[in-house]
Amino acid sequence: MPDLVAHQLTKEYQSAGERLQILRGVSLEMSAGENLAILGPSGAGKSTLLHILGGLDSPTAGTVRLRGVDPFELAVRKLAEFRNKNVGFIFQDHYLLPQLSALENVLIPVLAQQRVGPESTARAERLLAAVGLEHRMSHRPGELSGGERQRVAVARALIMNPILLLADEPTGSLDSVSAQAVGEILCDLPKQENTILVCVTHSEALASRFQKRVFLKNGTFVAEPQVSVTT
Ligand code: ADP
Ligand code: MG
Repeated sequence: MPDLVAHQLTKEYQSAGERLQILRGVSLEMSAGENLAILGPSGAGKSTLLHILGGLDSPTAGTVRLRGVDPFELAVRKLAEFRNKNVGFIFQDHYLLPQLSALENVLIPVLAQQRVGPESTARAERLLAAVGLEHRMSHRPGELSGGERQRVAVARALIMNPILLLADEPTGSLDSVSAQAVGEILCDLPKQENTILVCVTHSEALASRFQKRVFLKNGTFVAEPQVSVTT
């Protein structure tokens, strides 16, 4: 069975007495080390879908299974622990803590579970080296460039060796050079770590690096828009 199975996810909101259908039956299956880019217009439900895949928001109907576990069947505290261990998130903003070093920021998810031991520190150092920041480990976020901060966020999202990494417009606030560096890391590192990556992006350049691309429109996946060629 694939490590991630989402089946017929729907999401509805009640807003001002009106029923808003955001997702209308989204299914996907992915195995360890695979990556997928999700494109689509603003408001299509891309962030909503990522939140549901990562157990941050529940679907109105449909199921998510991550290595056989349905996160929405877990009690609240178990769900938080499940997310911490199995899902990494990268957002458009890095959300690093300004008073902590890059290394300490990467170790935050470990602290939520246990004391930081030499093994965790070694893994954090290895991940920071893998994102090209071996010389920046003791720098605080304010002493790093935007691209470097986002690379710390990538290392932090992978520290627990999650099954699934979710990225929501991870290069959206970066200049093109930094975006390219972060894009390269995003396509290589999760694969090396055997982690599934689902990434929402508006960037065709970033999406083109991924093994698969899907478009979310009107609440469902639609085929990639084809450029019609006339002769
Ligand atoms: P995207 O990430 O593709 O831009 P979102 O998933 O953030 O889109 O949002 C999809 C739609 O759902 C938007 O129209 C948004 O206004 C609506 N939406 C998101 N959260 C809520 C909420 N809590 N209540 C009502 N509508 C919401
Ligand atoms: Mg969004």
